[in-house]
Amino acid sequence: MADAGTEEEQQTPAEVAAEQLGPAKVEALGEYLDGEHAEVRRRSRELLEGGGFEIPDHDIAPGEYRELVLEWTKKLADEGQTTLGLPTEYGGGGDIGGSIAAFETLAFGDLSLLVKTGVQFGLFGGAILHLGTGRHHDAYLADIASVELPGCFAMSESGHGSDVQSVGTIATLDRKTDEWVIDTPTVADRKDWIGNAAEHGRVAVVFAQLLIGTENHGVHAFVVPIRSNKGKVLDGVTIEDCGHKLGLNGVDNGRLYFDSVRIPRTNLLDRYAQVSESGEYTSPIENPTGRFFTMVGTLVQGRVSVGGAGLSVSKFAMTTAVKHANGRRQFGPPGGGEEVLLLDYRAHQRRLLPLLARTYALHFIQAELVGDLHSVFSGEERDEEARRQLETRAAGVKAYATWHAIECLQTGREACGGLGYLTSSGFASRKSDAEIFATFEGDNTVLLQLVAKSLLTGYREEFGDLDPLGMAGFIASQVIERFVERSAARELWGRIWDQVTPDSEEDGDLNHREYQLALFAWREDHVLSSAARRLKGGIDEGYDPFDVFNAVQDHVLVAARTHIDTQILEAFDRGVEACPDPANKALLRRVCDLYALSVIEQHRGWYQEHGRISSTRSKAVIRNVNTLCDELRPHAGDLVEALRVPACALPEFGPSGIKG
Ligand SMILES: Cc1cc2nc3c(=O)[nH]c(=O)nc-3n(C[C@H](O)[C@H](O)[C@H](O)COP(=O)(O)OP(=O)(O)OC[C@H]3O[C@@H](n4cnc5c(N)ncnc54)[C@H](O)[C@@H]3O)c2cc1C
Repeated sequence: MADAGTEEEQQTPAEVAAEQLGPAKVEALGEYLDGEHAEVRRRSRELLEGGGFEIPDHDIAPGEYRELVLEWTKKLADEGQTTLGLPTEYGGGGDIGGSIAAFETLAFGDLSLLVKTGVQFGLFGGAILHLGTGRHHDAYLADIASVELPGCFAMSESGHGSDVQSVGTIATLDRKTDEWVIDTPTVADRKDWIGNAAEHGRVAVVFAQLLIGTENHGVHAFVVPIRSNKGKVLDGVTIEDCGHKLGLNGVDNGRLYFDSVRIPRTNLLDRYAQVSESGEYTSPIENPTGRFFTMVGTLVQGRVSVGGAGLSVSKFAMTTAVKHANGRRQFGPPGGGEEVLLLDYRAHQRRLLPLLARTYALHFIQAELVGDLHSVFSGEERDEEARRQLETRAAGVKAYATWHAIECLQTGREACGGLGYLTSSGFASRKSDAEIFATFEGDNTVLLQLVAKSLLTGYREEFGDLDPLGMAGFIASQVIERFVERSAARELWGRIWDQVTPDSEEDGDLNHREYQLALFAWREDHVLSSAARRLKGGIDEGYDPFDVFNAVQDHVLVAARTHIDTQILEAFDRGVEACPDPANKALLRRVCDLYALSVIEQHRGWYQEHGRISSTRSKAVIRNVNTLCDELRPHAGDLVEALRVPACALPEFGPSGIKG
């Protein structure tokens, strides 16, 4: 939290605004943002800048595009940039944090390439690594790292995309032959949207219900060959091409059907559940729901990666739009005089600068998330609670960062006018490719529900054994307990808490981080506890728990959002305060103020409804956002420069913006 009363904090807004950063400071800010994995990012940028990863023609045929993307994937694997997350003994880099940094940087380039590498190394390789054991690692990882063995991650089905615990594919143990028999019982149970399936994949990690005799042990992952070494589809496997898509047409998404496909018993990825030769099932995790969530939890890296990719896309959009607005002039004062730069218009500042501030905010929480992922998966952090928090945070940040990318692309495109519509501006391909980031690796709305459930229950696993009624009661009691605990803790913050009253009307308070954080936290507590009260009220009145949940679902989603808002502001604040360069720190503080106040501005009606801010203060929030836009306007060019979007990813700019 900001250290109130330091000399730096007393710097007046005018002083901050007057300070020119200059190239050295921009360089220092860029270095600070690159963070711990600066070297990996630099190397990935160099690779992109070196060329050779661009489609020759925007009208490239999908077949040709897919082959090109496969070729690029192999080339990147040779460079070692896409295999950083795999263990060194299998040709990887053994650096999980670095692998996300490389992925984020690669997201400045062709997004089909990004997704193809994500499928091969992150999803397919990640499933073998995290769900398999030594024999699977020895059998597959080296060939995955070199792309000798292109593979798929086959979880989603036509009938079940978000609810993957209910997939219909079955794996039945045949004790006589010591094999699993994989089947697709109905069309709804076919694997759908599977990356690498339509053309290149030779093996798939298939998620299926594990059946031994009449007992269903729930969803498990199996290694299932689908094509021969020469690319022929194997007996019992049927593959369809998903066809042309809105974007990502360099990725061969396909559908898989299995008809009594036999694989050895040892092809079960058995880190969390083992089946002996005699057909005995054992697992260290007794509760089937807990086991399922532990298994999918190990795949959290995919979500962190897609969130990071969304962030890079928003950096592209903001950089392009701000650079354009710093060169392009439209209209001028009556009677002649120089026309005005777009970025000098208040409306244009209002469209771009709060989004730029949010891009910075998300940058800092994403950096923390990558650090947490690295500690948890490098074995530095063994605490179960840390793992659970990582999963919840990853879900929230993925949802926010990918929705933010879509918003930045739309606003950025419009802010560039007709020039943004040119394919060469870079908006067109990204708009169609990044759109799906909101859906795959967990649909964003479903992810927010996951965040909310985690907030509400504390321990998701525990409701595995509870009936729906017990679950609802458990959730309600947990929330109330947590709320009471948190409120008690907040009493210690008396001074801060007092600030969240409508009494104090001076504009100055609005720029105090403590006040901003208190407003965010108050909203979070209020929304969460009122959702819990509604849940409990419905149950107490005897309504069906499912209906009660459904009736409160919108409220619960808002609770998730308020929680993520607070987490982002806290992470941004920590990032600002850790910045070593005083001038950059002062600037980042103002960017953080703009982020915080623009969120408060968005919810000012809610704060007024709940008596937290007066109408006078609400107007002051609007005024302060405008003032911050004024102050940050001269720094907008430096702020986007420090995001370090490689030049090859940006359109060409002339003195009047994007070159047509
Ligand atoms: C290009 C592409 C690549 C993909 N690659 C892969 C891959 O390699 N491997 C793989 O396994 N999968 C892959 N997928 C599948 C992807 O993960 C799923 O599309 C995703 O999980 C969503 O599932 P769905 O499409 O069935 O949507 P649904 O689950 O049907 O969701 C549709 C809508 O309903 C809403 N909704 C769903 N449930 C609820 C609820 N309980 N409450 C409120 N609203 C709800 C969602 O928010 C969404 O808006 C890919 C998909 C695409 C499009």
